[in-house]
Amino acid sequence: ASEAQLGRDGLNAVLWSDDDAAVADADALDAARGDGSDVTPRRLAGVPVMVKDNIATVDLPTTCGSRILEGYVSPYEATVVTRLREAGAVVVGKTNMDEFGMGSSTEHSAYGPARNPLDPSRVPGGSSGGSAAAVAAGAVRIALGSETGGSVRQPAAFCGVVGVKPTYGRVSRSGLVAFASSLDQVGVFGRTVDDAALALEVVAGLDPLDATSTDTPVPSYRGGGARVSDGLPLRDVRIGLPKEYFPDTLDARLKERIDHAVELLKIAGARVESVSLPHTSLAIPVYYVLAPAEASSNLARYDGVRFGRRVASDGLRDMYERTRSEGFGAEVTRRILIGTYVLSAGYYDAYYRRAQEVRALIARDFSQVFDTVDLLLTPTTPTPAFRLGAVTDPYEMYLNDVFTVTANLAGVPAMSVPAGRVDGMPVGAQLIAPHFGEALMFRAAYALE
Ligand code: GLN
Repeated sequence: ASEAQLGRDGLNAVLWSDDDAAVADADALDAARGDGSDVTPRRLAGVPVMVKDNIATVDLPTTCGSRILEGYVSPYEATVVTRLREAGAVVVGKTNMDEFGMGSSTEHSAYGPARNPLDPSRVPGGSSGGSAAAVAAGAVRIALGSETGGSVRQPAAFCGVVGVKPTYGRVSRSGLVAFASSLDQVGVFGRTVDDAALALEVVAGLDPLDATSTDTPVPSYRGGGARVSDGLPLRDVRIGLPKEYFPDTLDARLKERIDHAVELLKIAGARVESVSLPHTSLAIPVYYVLAPAEASSNLARYDGVRFGRRVASDGLRDMYERTRSEGFGAEVTRRILIGTYVLSAGYYDAYYRRAQEVRALIARDFSQVFDTVDLLLTPTTPTPAFRLGAVTDPYEMYLNDVFTVTANLAGVPAMSVPAGRVDGMPVGAQLIAPHFGEALMFRAAYALE
């Protein structure tokens, strides 16, 4: 790879850093940083963090990995970034990503692919691949990503770090650029379970700027079972292994790593049983109707008038067309076309409405299974990280998300914890919890470390 392709950090994980700092609007920055009158303990004092490039910052560009937002600097800051800064963290970079979050390898970035620090010939996963790579490379211990269908958990698994998708509504989406609003959540990466727990504690909670955020109290996620005196932090915790996530075709070596994770949970006192989520096989088709539908609507705002790039031309319509044709990459264009198609009058009932109905069945699978178990354990992905350029068929790329999109469709929290290696590359074990069950999910995650 040429030097340009390897970016400023050798992995092209970081898109923008101090070199790109805008002559920040001093007032905006002050407003974002607060006046110091809050009494929140500074839990991240001086800690460097990185933030995915679809999360708004007032001093660094926010481009979503897209040409259409090249050079764009937001006039306001995402709530999650404000909370990090209020806790004392220093945002040192914006990380590479698949354009607008659409992808599973970070190869769909307009600024070139990011690479996996454990083997730079392989992808870091995506779409939050830059954040995962930065944490795995040791550049930062904590980074923010975003999830619509697995974009934190899958790259966490590929890079051997911890990645958490919170309950829908747990973390504010204000300032997270919308991809598919009913699925999107900000997620956190940590080098360890404890780093991720701390990061989530800092960013979680009600935000008046996001009507879908909830006032459910944020408990402590830290410490795991350390305070449990008999050494059995998961005593009486029931953990289900959903059989649909362990197909016969699952790589035997990966299966072995998950079996090992099951042993660790049992040693910590958990009871483990087999369960079923019968609508799992419908999750990918449902996701790839609903996510593009919402995306086609959300991305209508990039018209060359209000944001970012504009390609000059004679008439208004021509300007729209040229701006969007030149500004969006191939995968984003594909999603907009799919989304527009499934929402069009003649097909709405056949695709969009049916997908909504099946989404409800998938959500019901989870609420029913959580009547009998407290948590679920699955592989995060069907394979370890693949080589750059190895997956060219879009559908094959979509299948990377087969174990992760379900949690987004149901709105439940889920996380990936490193579970050893296959062929020298990391794989992840995924924990899934009921809505707002993050504290118990973390308790189990500590036992897996
Ligand atoms: N890989 C999935 C997609 O391409 C999920 C992306 C995400 O979670 N942002 O849509």
